[in-house]
Amino acid sequence: MRVKQDLGDLAISGGPPAFEEPVHVGRPNLGPREALFSRLEGVLDRRWLTNDGELVHEFERRVAGAAGVRHCIATCNGEIGLEIAIRALELRGEVIVPAFTFVATAHSLQWQEITPVFADVDPRTHVIDPRSVERLITPKTTGILGVHLWGQTCDVEALGAIARRRGLKLIFDAAHAFGCSRRGRPVGGFGHAEVFSFHATKFVNSLEGGAVVTDDDELARRIRLMKNFGFVGYDDVAFVGTNGKMNEFCAAMGLTSLDAMDSFVAINARNHAEYARELNGITGLRLLEPPAGERTNWQYVVVDVDPERCPLGRDDLLDLLWTENVQARRYFYPGLHRMEPYRSHFPNAHLLLPSTIRAAAGVLVLPTGQSMDPEAIAIVASVIRLGVERADEVRAALRVTVRPRHPRRRTDPESP
Ligand SMILES: *Cc1c(COP(=O)(O)O)cnc(C)c1O
Repeated sequence: MRVKQDLGDLAISGGPPAFEEPVHVGRPNLGPREALFSRLEGVLDRRWLTNDGELVHEFERRVAGAAGVRHCIATCNGEIGLEIAIRALELRGEVIVPAFTFVATAHSLQWQEITPVFADVDPRTHVIDPRSVERLITPKTTGILGVHLWGQTCDVEALGAIARRRGLKLIFDAAHAFGCSRRGRPVGGFGHAEVFSFHATKFVNSLEGGAVVTDDDELARRIRLMKNFGFVGYDDVAFVGTNGKMNEFCAAMGLTSLDAMDSFVAINARNHAEYARELNGITGLRLLEPPAGERTNWQYVVVDVDPERCPLGRDDLLDLLWTENVQARRYFYPGLHRMEPYRSHFPNAHLLLPSTIRAAAGVLVLPTGQSMDPEAIAIVASVIRLGVERADEVRAALRVTVRPRHPRRRTDPESP
């Protein structure tokens, strides 16, 4: 494992790959094992495995504290958290969402026969553009579902003003934004409700898990019942519900992850700074930077490859990195408007989504977290730099060595 300096060092020239084992985006961060194991022992000793157990309560208290809200309802994952929040808010008809996000954002609506209507994003931050939202409101619109993509917060002030003026509900998919802030306020208290994901790949993880947070007492009460089949007592059901409960093992993992959260931030911040230094000056690349002065989790290292300026295209860079065992990702490609069923529902959506198309064409997400260190980052960056500086030769070599072996990479399904 060493920095690559010459064309001949690259795997496409017959050299060994930069990494012996693949390095991944979203490799889980782990808290201290002893703490996890002792919590698991406690769960078994109490014989209380799920249904509002002690650890789930503790997890909810700590998440609510970190998010600065009165209520946190833990769920089995983020998608179910979104579905329940949407249902408890009685959204119907059409809800406006960004086209550039993980597919779960739209599915959480479509699953309950609500139509997601795709808004464009801000070309610099990749979060939903309030002007685009305003243009898409129809008599059927009941809500706006913003996404704090990459931990960059939505323009919650502008979206809040639109929602108030047009009588719409406003919620946020905050799957990427646990531990982030906007204007000094933690993510969690914006809109009617916000939803976190604690999936293994996320900043804080509970294996699988999620949470709805809100300051609305009545909404919290409904969500709490809905995630437990609608039961209000042992024998009484108030309305239709589902099973969205988090179990005690997941809460044990989540608590252990929360214990280590500060160290995750420190590692991610160090990695981000290292990428910024190493990628500095490479033509046509822009590393997305979180807003200065805000708290952020630095969970995503996102590079935008400018198709007009970068000598090597984003997809070529991606293929080059994979030959070196660096499994970078082009997240949220090609945009929700090009995935089924939305592609068929809105065949002309692309006409209104220029910045989504541009973002989906340029994004390259690089590995970070506990499994990356400055030395590994210098190696990843050296491959990128070589690729860009020797673009013509690299492109030619990729045509003969990579394309025939990976014909299906272009249509890989995306995952969080
Ligand atoms: C991960 C993710 C989700 C879904 O969360 P799960 O916990 O995996 O169900 C939703 N939205 C976005 C933007 C995500 O990245």
